[in-house]
Amino acid sequence: MTRRQKKRMLALTGSLTAVICVGMLIGTVYAQTMEQEQQEEGGVQEIVLPDVLEEETAEHTEETLTEETEEEKEKEEQEEHLPEDWNLILVNRTHPIPEDYEVELKNIGSGHQIDARAYDDFRAMIQAAKSEGVYIYVTSSYRDLDKQTDLYNKKVESYVMQGYSYESAKEQAGQVVAVPGTSEHHLGLALDLVSSEYRKLDEKQENTKGFKWLTEHSWEYGFILRYPNGETDITGIIYEPWHFRYVGLEAAKEITESGLTLEEYVGARPVSEGLAALEEQEQTARRQQGENLYTKDSTESTSDR
Ligand SMILES: [Zn+2]
Repeated sequence: MTRRQKKRMLALTGSLTAVICVGMLIGTVYAQTMEQEQQEEGGVQEIVLPDVLEEETAEHTEETLTEETEEEKEKEEQEEHLPEDWNLILVNRTHPIPEDYEVELKNIGSGHQIDARAYDDFRAMIQAAKSEGVYIYVTSSYRDLDKQTDLYNKKVESYVMQGYSYESAKEQAGQVVAVPGTSEHHLGLALDLVSSEYRKLDEKQENTKGFKWLTEHSWEYGFILRYPNGETDITGIIYEPWHFRYVGLEAAKEITESGLTLEEYVGARPVSEGLAALEEQEQTARRQQGENLYTKDSTESTSDR
């Protein structure tokens, strides 16, 4: 439909406001189409036109106004009220560790450290396994946030050097190195545990004596298997039959009995949903920033060539 046809049709309904809005909308879409064409030449493709069309039209029709209110209600219902208990703190790709997080660590041997509050239960668990002839080793424990940040920044830098824009360099790096602050190992409550007969961190770990023992008994000492098979949508992490998390005796028992993930147990929404919402927010923010950002971005990518 052309701009004139659309105007005429709406004028007939007597809705002057709608005329102005649609006119503006088409102007915007037209301008952004032009912009997109220019940017595609420069290698930047960030505008999603159907979204622009849908959302801006939605603001001016009664039908979708009602839908929006319902959406808002739904959003409120979905809002997370996470527990504040130290042992239930949630760290995942959509819940980074608080910047001021402090933890008192205790050495557990071979350079590994754990939150001092989980120390006794951890020792008891390893001892109990040992007494049944099962030898469990720690391959990863507390991880320093600074180290992770260095590692990540270096990766981003290397992508920028290869000619990626900063935004896409970050995206690429995040797939290879965990984004600083989103690894549960920063808490000092997560441990990667392997069995003496097989020490690799892969799915075969689930066939070991150590894993079988831990599956049966870790909850008795306050630990849970944090990333179970088939729960990646919720946890944001692949199946890891070696990564255990301390949540305390009561929660470990309830989580194990119910078969819930930690996300579900504390009432957080699935990581996949959170990531999709973040992506949407970023797109909206980019649209709102509009021309300035795009002009800047395309200048940057041109100078990289
Ligand atoms: Zn781990």
